[in-house]
Amino acid sequence: MDIDSINHAADGGERLPLLLHRAAHTISRKRISPAAVRVLYGLHEAGWQAHLVGGAVRDLLLGGAPKDYDVATDAHPEDIRGAFRSCRLIGRRFVIAHVRYGQEIIEVTTFRGGNELSAEDEHPDREVEAEGLILRDNVFGTIEEDARRRDFTVNALYYSIDDFAVRDYVGGLSDLAERKLRLIGDPETRYREDPVRMLRAARLAAKLGFTMDRATEEPIGRLAGLLDAIPPARLFDELQKLFLLGHAEKSYDQLLRLRLFEHLFPGVSIDADSGRPYADALIRAALRSTDARVAEGKPVTPAFLFAAFLWEPLQMECAHIDVNAEGALGLAADAVFREAVERVALPKRFSLVTREIWELQPRFATHSPGRAKRLLRHPRFRAAFDFLVLRAAVDPELVEQAKRWEMAQTVADDGFDALFRAVPQTAASRAVGAVVCDGEARPAAKRRRRRRRKPAIAPSE
Ligand code: ATP
Ligand code: MG
Repeated sequence: MDIDSINHAADGGERLPLLLHRAAHTISRKRISPAAVRVLYGLHEAGWQAHLVGGAVRDLLLGGAPKDYDVATDAHPEDIRGAFRSCRLIGRRFVIAHVRYGQEIIEVTTFRGGNELSAEDEHPDREVEAEGLILRDNVFGTIEEDARRRDFTVNALYYSIDDFAVRDYVGGLSDLAERKLRLIGDPETRYREDPVRMLRAARLAAKLGFTMDRATEEPIGRLAGLLDAIPPARLFDELQKLFLLGHAEKSYDQLLRLRLFEHLFPGVSIDADSGRPYADALIRAALRSTDARVAEGKPVTPAFLFAAFLWEPLQMECAHIDVNAEGALGLAADAVFREAVERVALPKRFSLVTREIWELQPRFATHSPGRAKRLLRHPRFRAAFDFLVLRAAVDPELVEQAKRWEMAQTVADDGFDALFRAVPQTAASRAVGAVVCDGEARPAAKRRRRRRRKPAIAPSE
């Protein structure tokens, strides 16, 4: 649809809600996933209101394909469960119904209310911390109240299965036309209620290429520290949405610009102004390659990204140990993860892979054809090699090594041996010791915080 014509096509003039009739927009049931259409009709036929809402309406109006579908209704959670065979109620902070059709899960939520409640007001279905952080909120309300509880105006548009019109209670249509991200209500209050909205602002600005309204952007600098109180598991969920959906580099730019990145990875010293060029360049290279893989429909993993995000802190750790010593790199990795997961919880199944990617790096320097063959057969070879390529992209000293391993994957047997025998022994042995802490990223003299490490082997008693 011609998004610029939305305002003119919408009924109601300046009054809200604006009603965009079916003839004035291009959202058709054919463009909505069959599972979401079935959920909308399931509720409708049971006598409830049923609206598509959130990112799906926003993306459909912008001509894109939604990532997932959210449905809002006046039915209460138990009623929703009664209307579908395959429905689970989840969540404590907000009760959400998950309706499953095949592989697809549609999130159905009851209209939320309680806008009129201030942080001090008591309500049996709502819990608010002294700083304004909402811990639990299951106060139900009307569609209009529900709209006002959403984060950005462009995320608060409702497509009704009853009349196929789009309803706008908060000015989302005109912001969509102007490609503007605007928080609903008083920005500072909304960020205090849920600091993750700052990350959502960065992510949506990156994903949609929208500009942030000044009042929406302004408090972020002051309130970024509130992210430190968010459970690490929730930050990991957000991180995946920031970096694994095809707009990773743009997300990173936004996080740097808004000075939010340092709250996710406090151990990484990227200064937005003066900059540590190596860490920034490596992270950027990783994000770019992730974006390219997503564009090609290839799988991506947070393990690889964390290898890049935490490479610099790993080097800092390595500066104080002998990386050739048995298990030393593993201990350094432990220390890096311990600090990082205090902020963003990387599940073990990923951190194990990250660790393997790191541990294989020094082995690329080998000049022994036998060892090289074993490395080639390692189950994690591919990911580790891809990581070497990234490092080579930002460290000229590694270009030869990366080329050699590129060739090693296709060369015939006799060529393979020659490839590695040609590596000067001195270069190889130097690299084994230095590779982890090489290049410009040589640790800075000052370290933000340094722990004493226990010796690898406890002294015998
Ligand atoms: P995406 O395209 O990435 O799915 P989205 O806006 O749909 O973006 P979701 O996480 O799927 O993001 O959330 C669905 C909707 O729920 C949002 O559009 C918004 O209306 C509402 N929402 C999500 N998170 C919050 C929040 N922290 N505060 C207020 N409303 C939120
Ligand atoms: Mg969504």
